[in-house]
Amino acid sequence: MSTELPEFIEPLRLAQHERSLQGLMPIAQMARLQDSLCDNQGEISIVLQFQYDDQNRPVILGKIQGQLALLCQRCLQPMQYVLQREVVLFILKTGQSDEGLPETADFLTLEQNSLSLWDLVEDEIILSLPIVALHEQCPQNEYSLPDEIAQADRPNPFQLLAKLKKP
Ligand SMILES: [Zn+2]
Repeated sequence: MSTELPEFIEPLRLAQHERSLQGLMPIAQMARLQDSLCDNQGEISIVLQFQYDDQNRPVILGKIQGQLALLCQRCLQPMQYVLQREVVLFILKTGQSDEGLPETADFLTLEQNSLSLWDLVEDEIILSLPIVALHEQCPQNEYSLPDEIAQADRPNPFQLLAKLKKP
């Protein structure tokens, strides 16, 4: 069941009520992500469960999944990236230390009761992106010639030089 995702949420209230949110978020909506993308069509699927863990700590658990068309930094062509982000975010209040949380845990410091769900999801996506997007093997660029033709047509620079030097 997908429901409309709210823009703003109150994570602690949702945790108290053990609520879960799921739905689709348009990629075009994520402003900070746009620079890394060559196509902003499509949607990201979001499932987030708000709850208290067995030590009574509020936490958001879930999954953010989808496909992103990143811009390959080598050939500048689209690179399909499969996004699979497991979310484990402990909720802290301002001033509360992260002491006692698992070392690997991420945490979210609440400055106000409510925050933007869109920003939260976008942050998680940005954290999961490769530092530099690169194809394992770049596809042939449509504007580049096949190797044989390119080789044959390319004049030998030393021959050109020789011609120029002739009196
Ligand atoms: Zn490439």
